[in-house]
Amino acid sequence: MAKVAVTTEFFPEEIERLRTFGHSVSVHHGPPLDKEGLIAFACDAEALIVLLANRVDEEVLSALPRLRIVANLGVGVDNIDVSAATRRGVLVTNTPGVLTEATADLAWALLLAAARRIVEADQDLRREGFPGWTFLPKHMGVDVYGRTIGIVGFGRIGQAVARRAKGFGMTILYHSRTRKPQAEEELGARFVPLSELLRESDFVVLCVPLTQETHHLIGKNELPLMKKEAILVNVARGPVVDEEALVWALKEGKILGAGLDVFEREPEVHPELLTLKNVVLTPHIGSATWATRRRMAALAVDNVLAALRGERPPTLVNPEAWPKVMPAT
Ligand code: NAP
Repeated sequence: MAKVAVTTEFFPEEIERLRTFGHSVSVHHGPPLDKEGLIAFACDAEALIVLLANRVDEEVLSALPRLRIVANLGVGVDNIDVSAATRRGVLVTNTPGVLTEATADLAWALLLAAARRIVEADQDLRREGFPGWTFLPKHMGVDVYGRTIGIVGFGRIGQAVARRAKGFGMTILYHSRTRKPQAEEELGARFVPLSELLRESDFVVLCVPLTQETHHLIGKNELPLMKKEAILVNVARGPVVDEEALVWALKEGKILGAGLDVFEREPEVHPELLTLKNVVLTPHIGSATWATRRRMAALAVDNVLAALRGERPPTLVNPEAWPKVMPAT
């Protein structure tokens, strides 16, 4: 039976499920493994369950010759060199779908928190006390209901955000790689070029994967296109936004505020973001609910068990690798 290396603390029932099928399981406890640590930890593994913080590149793949599958605990696979894995006949899987609603909920929480200055108001109340109800208080915000939202990346999470926006009576604009006629009809969403979306939206929510095309999709040229009273929400990946340009836009009043769950150089957060009051920050917790993390763990284990049985994993990212490993019939 195979050795499975899991680079993070994991649900015991899922480790047990791997063991039930006779596999030996090693679990890494402690801070995320760097490249050398990962290679040493997984040296004879046939299956690897990894986090975004684990970079699985050509060097790692070549150092782990027994590897058959890399199962990512997340839907974005920008931490894995998928082309290199495919060349080597290593299957790559992710956890799409099971985290969609939790991530859309967090996007909505950031949007509301930034619009209504909830974190700032909470902090001031704890520090200064409640000064009493006033007509024009310090924490005046902006309306959400009935306004215009622009969603960039109209896949699973983008459309889940749009469903929430529909409940808030919003005009829904979207920009994506391909048009989504069914979602347009169901949600009343309108496809527009990115520049038009930025100009027209009161809230811009980023839901694209991180790729070469989306790296710094929003930067010094794009931010000034947004309305001065608009709010940017990023639940995608940090490098989709040029963080230096965002700090500039927030400081110069080019936009009103931002809600960020992801950062350009995680786990580092731009020091100036920490000093700005018009930004709400969360430490990449988009999918961090108990039920969602359990579903992600279960799906990663389903993928590993399938691959180790010689079956096609349910959420395979690189189907091109499958013919290379598919058992001969
Ligand atoms: P998805 O269903 O694949 O949706 C992504 C959408 O982005 C697709 O509609 C895709 O277009 C579009 N897209 C890709 N490249 C684009 C480009 N260059 N310009 C415009 N649109 C582009 O993925 P998902 O499940 O919604 O997840 C989206 C991303 O969210 C993930 O990749 C991940 O990085 C991030 N995420 C973050 C968290 C968190 O904790 N904050 C949690 C989950 C996911 P097509 O439909 O044409 O392919």
